[in-house]
Amino acid sequence: MTASYRVDLDAFSRNLHRVREAVAPAAHMLVVKDDAYAHGLERLVAHAFAQGVRWFGAFDVVTGAAVRAVVGPEARIFVWLIGGADDLAAGIAADLDLGVGDEALLDDLAGLTVDGVARIHLKIDTGLHRNGIRPERWGEALDHTAALVARGRAELEGIWSHISEASDADDDEARAVFLAARESARVAGLDPRFSHLAASAAGFARGEFREDLVRVGAFSYGIRPAGGPDEASLGIEPIAALVATVTDVDAAGVRLDVGSLHGLPSTLAGRFDVDTPAGPRRVEAITPVSVSVAPWPGAAPGDEVIVFGRGSRNSATDLAELIDTIGEEIALRVSPAVSRRYVSS
Ligand SMILES: *Cc1c(COP(=O)(O)O)cnc(C)c1O
Repeated sequence: MTASYRVDLDAFSRNLHRVREAVAPAAHMLVVKDDAYAHGLERLVAHAFAQGVRWFGAFDVVTGAAVRAVVGPEARIFVWLIGGADDLAAGIAADLDLGVGDEALLDDLAGLTVDGVARIHLKIDTGLHRNGIRPERWGEALDHTAALVARGRAELEGIWSHISEASDADDDEARAVFLAARESARVAGLDPRFSHLAASAAGFARGEFREDLVRVGAFSYGIRPAGGPDEASLGIEPIAALVATVTDVDAAGVRLDVGSLHGLPSTLAGRFDVDTPAGPRRVEAITPVSVSVAPWPGAAPGDEVIVFGRGSRNSATDLAELIDTIGEEIALRVSPAVSRRYVSS
């Protein structure tokens, strides 16, 4: 395997700085699900921590514990995919902040026998219906939470939700539900320290959604939204490039190892140019094991070609837009078997 995914840690630093400035005075929670959006969890978490990031959003408890092992005790790590009692116990043991979007988890918590206080963030369903406590069940969930707090089993650290960021009107409606839920928590005597609602897009574009924490994944890695503002206007830059190597050259063209079986969607064939040593060349075919590119004079095995990302004409989102998807979808296709190489600019 000769392809590599080249991650520029200085560019990552600049994005982190930009996100921090854009969401201030709210804090940046760096979302690191999916192996830090395929950039490599450990390395990116360590780097972000060194750059001052003190909140991480890690999705599940196993990932949260892996982040804890990297950063030590001085950061907060929020996870929100929690399977049940065992996950809760493991989350408490790893000192994680636990997103609770299902009342059954409050029952599990009540029955837990392990030591330690669970720091929970209750999730109100503001319309996405993925997970989250429905508004009509919210009062019940608050009562249950208050009982757990009174027993010293839990602390209500946060109230949160996730919004679609599909339209301002939908998001405004979701926010109204969120604010009402938070108000009823206060009325019930529960006053969480942290509210969080927004991800990248709303966190940048809409000040009133920032609350205390903004959970930013995509923009931290320089992945702009499909159909949305460009990197320059957001002040971010792609941090990674998929660098492929020429494996063989013949009359039919130049073949590249992109190091993937689940690599690029074949529907992209014929639709974009990669950056070769001789300039842009069209990608002619994409099979599960190789990519063919229009030839150039002197092409030889070992030549490096940038398929997408930093330093090439196409970002992950540029490719995504050609096939009506989002940049994350392209970035997450980079095979885990491709080595991540970390560089400075
Ligand atoms: C993925 C995710 C985020 C980050 O979203 P981006 O658009 O990548 O910033 C935030 N919150 C939750 C709950 C998520 O699942």
